[in-house]
Amino acid sequence: MKKILSLLLILSLIWGCKESGNEPGDQALNSTTESSDEPTFGLVIHGGAGTILKKNMTDSLEQAYRAILEEAIHAGHEILKNDGTAMEAVTATINIMEDSSLFNAGKGAVFTHEETNELDASVMDGATLNAGAIAGVTRIKNPIDLAVEVMNNSDHVMLAGTGAEVFAQTRGIELVDPEYFYTERRFNSLQRIKEREKTELDHDGTASSFDPFIKDSKFGTVGCAALDKQGNLAAGTSTGGMTNKRWNRIGDAPIIGAGTYANNATCAVSSTGWGEYFIRAMVAHDISAMMEYKGSSLENAAHEVIHDKVGGLGGDGGIVAIDKDGNVAMEFNTAGMYRAHMNANGDLVIGIYEKE
Ligand code: ASP
Repeated sequence: MKKILSLLLILSLIWGCKESGNEPGDQALNSTTESSDEPTFGLVIHGGAGTILKKNMTDSLEQAYRAILEEAIHAGHEILKNDGTAMEAVTATINIMEDSSLFNAGKGAVFTHEETNELDASVMDGATLNAGAIAGVTRIKNPIDLAVEVMNNSDHVMLAGTGAEVFAQTRGIELVDPEYFYTERRFNSLQRIKEREKTELDHDGTASSFDPFIKDSKFGTVGCAALDKQGNLAAGTSTGGMTNKRWNRIGDAPIIGAGTYANNATCAVSSTGWGEYFIRAMVAHDISAMMEYKGSSLENAAHEVIHDKVGGLGGDGGIVAIDKDGNVAMEFNTAGMYRAHMNANGDLVIGIYEKE
């Protein structure tokens, strides 16, 4: 009898052990589940949209664009991978493109009619809906950094012109001599446009800043939208605006809701294109609103806003965006858009033309 009882005891001990699930295999299963549950992250950038055609591009210029897009996206990805914030990734990525003369932002900014450079930028934090923007500054080396300062260290959302530069000095932001922004390529573009404007005026007196040639001479605004491991979204945009702009014209890039928008409930968006249309269509916010109020996917919202709404008004350009689940949109209705995307696995997509 004793023997039977001890046998039953041993059997019940073995059974209990199985039920409690303390076996090495279960441990492995849990950690597998945990690692597949790792929070996702990712980022997407643009370097401007327009009539970017392969036939107008040299191999070396194309390589240069691809290299800088890759450098910028890697910098942002590294920050996100190492638990940095979406906002840190956005600014680091944009700084690299601002410092490159290839893009119409920072160093490569286009010229105004008066042969100066006036820079605009904005950022938005999707967690707090805080935002910062600057417009028409002429001496700020990295305008996106000043937009972050406005967001974090002022009571305002947007500062402009010399006032923004005085604020920059109080915050230790780097100022440069306006000469810093001179590049031969952009200066020559301005001269070509002025020449053309003169010819058109000579002919029928109707030179317009919406001339197709003129509107296409603005490529290279830069922007980034990022999702970090904490589930926070952020977006930023930086530009020199449009070549030959005058009267302190300001485009969509520094306007929250048009050029930049981020909301943790939906997505983060950065725009590029013909600013007057992007302001009127409130592009970046509209994409977020379609997701929030209509339940649209990011893909559908971006497609509808860029093609139906902006296109319907006669405007052109594009956006990059990432949603709270890491889905990405790179939508444009122009011939091309400099763009790149990297997800949590480090998969990289780089594109320039409509069909790659
Ligand atoms: N959206 C910018 C502006 O209108 C220009 C651009 O993105 O190319 O100022």
